[in-house]
Amino acid sequence: MNLILLGPPGAGKGTQAKRIESNKGFKQLSTGDMLRAAVASGSELGKTAKSIMDAGQLVPDDIMLEMISNRIDEPDCQTGFVLDGFPRTLVQAEGLDDMLEQKSKQLHLVVEMQVDEEALLDRIRKRAAENPGEVRSDDNAEILKNRLEVYRGQTAPLLPYYRDRGVLKAVDGMADIDSVTAAIDALLAA
Ligand code: AMP
Repeated sequence: MNLILLGPPGAGKGTQAKRIESNKGFKQLSTGDMLRAAVASGSELGKTAKSIMDAGQLVPDDIMLEMISNRIDEPDCQTGFVLDGFPRTLVQAEGLDDMLEQKSKQLHLVVEMQVDEEALLDRIRKRAAENPGEVRSDDNAEILKNRLEVYRGQTAPLLPYYRDRGVLKAVDGMADIDSVTAAIDALLAA
């Protein structure tokens, strides 16, 4: 099964994607993690991506589409995959549709993780306070505001896009982690 977790930064997409991977075997594909690995490796891509990520802006669509296209061809994605942080723009969503069609694959489900923005800012502050040694360079309240604006402007339009295609379902992302997992499990079983 191939699915997308959609929601603003801090909504818990990564946590839930990891759980789906370990419970169901659908591979978590986090574009944020892939980009951070590229930054850490010092590759050309990493150099391009770092300043964009630190500003809370989006890496160009063509780069992201190529990254995902290559990744979903790998053997560990053939049972299914969970896209976490991709697509983030309409161009990426349309590119994904074309790509899946070419690969004879299907998108089965898009899960919207609904959250309250004020509560998100609190979560990010908590994440920073709990892990002072490993604060992500884009995890501070000012940059988060940017990232939320980018979400509202560029990523939220994906909600009607997927609703029109009949694949969008929502869960309450403010519930506790186990309840969110249970709600997603119920959607996967439906
Ligand atoms: P994330 O860990 O998903 O919050 O991603 C961290 C940062 O990586 C984002 O703020 C963007 O700068 C970049 N990024 C991750 N995924 C994408 C994507 N699909 N399109 C563009 N930029 C992305």
